[in-house]
Amino acid sequence: MNHTPNTRPAFSFEFFPPKNPEGTERLRRARARLTALDPAYFSVTFGAGGSTRDRTLETVLEIQSEGAVAAAPHISCISSSRAQLLDLLTTYRDHGVRRLVALRGDLPSGTGVGGGLGEFRYAAELVAFIREQFGDHFTIEVAAYPEFHPEATNAEKDLEHFRKKVAAGADAAITQYFYNPDAYVAFVDRVRAMGMDIPIVPGIMPITNYTQLARFSDACGAEIPRYIRKRLEAYGDDSASIRVFGIEVVTRLCQRLLDDGAPGLHFYSMNQAGPSEAIWNNLGLAQPR
Ligand code: FAD
Repeated sequence: MNHTPNTRPAFSFEFFPPKNPEGTERLRRARARLTALDPAYFSVTFGAGGSTRDRTLETVLEIQSEGAVAAAPHISCISSSRAQLLDLLTTYRDHGVRRLVALRGDLPSGTGVGGGLGEFRYAAELVAFIREQFGDHFTIEVAAYPEFHPEATNAEKDLEHFRKKVAAGADAAITQYFYNPDAYVAFVDRVRAMGMDIPIVPGIMPITNYTQLARFSDACGAEIPRYIRKRLEAYGDDSASIRVFGIEVVTRLCQRLLDDGAPGLHFYSMNQAGPSEAIWNNLGLAQPR
């Protein structure tokens, strides 16, 4: 699991579409700082069922029009019709978008497992649809879960379902965040043993706020190791100490992943430049690798 020496791993940053003009300005400032790091792309999340459709589209088109960094919209199939998805994908294609993150999306609360409200139930069906309609126009990223998807009935089935996304035409995967590098290494080894060779880029969640992190982690099944949880709990409202500790922990994680051959890193930036920049600088990524 080692990348070729002198090949710079692919780094990317994820944003959510801002809700108001202040958020839009904040994101523009964060983006300007992160652009200076010369990432491969900026991705923009999409609320399941199209709840952020217009805001995602607006943010993506703004990034595309700046021309500095390629935009990669997330697109989720849950609760969207084929016609709506086709329309959105066509708009992206017509604006020069070449990369997508294709997802099922999170089920609205109260909806049963697999009980999608749209025409597609799983991300693999969306990937197949995109390939059928647009051929190889888009590079398609899909989601991967080193600690397994929270709805998965067992680990092997989750991997089989992941294989379906790859078979449907996914080019690469981005993982859910995790803090245990062994989970990633074991996942990649298992995927390789199953004959899949697509790049699997670790998703990195900087740590800045314990309450928010605990809430996200409960929802998405990402484990916060006890030593991290205990330290964060002890800091209470001391956000400066949380930040320093978070940067130290996540830098160590990223270094270990790159040393183990991860093909890049995808930062869940939460629309903030500071934590990702600090980790980036600690890793010496400003230098050509
Ligand atoms: P799938 O790959 O379809 O899998 C979902 C579940 O169904 C898994 O448990 C899988 O094992 C199971 N499954 C798959 N196929 C089958 C089958 N044929 N039969 C039975 N079971 C099956 N959510 C958003 O709403 N918007 C976003 O922008 C967004 N961005 C994300 C970005 C990344 C990098 C990641 C990792 C996640 C993101 N999510 C986003 C969250 C994601 O939508 C949720 O985790 C969602 O619950 C699953 O999406 P998926 O694409 O992995 O689904």
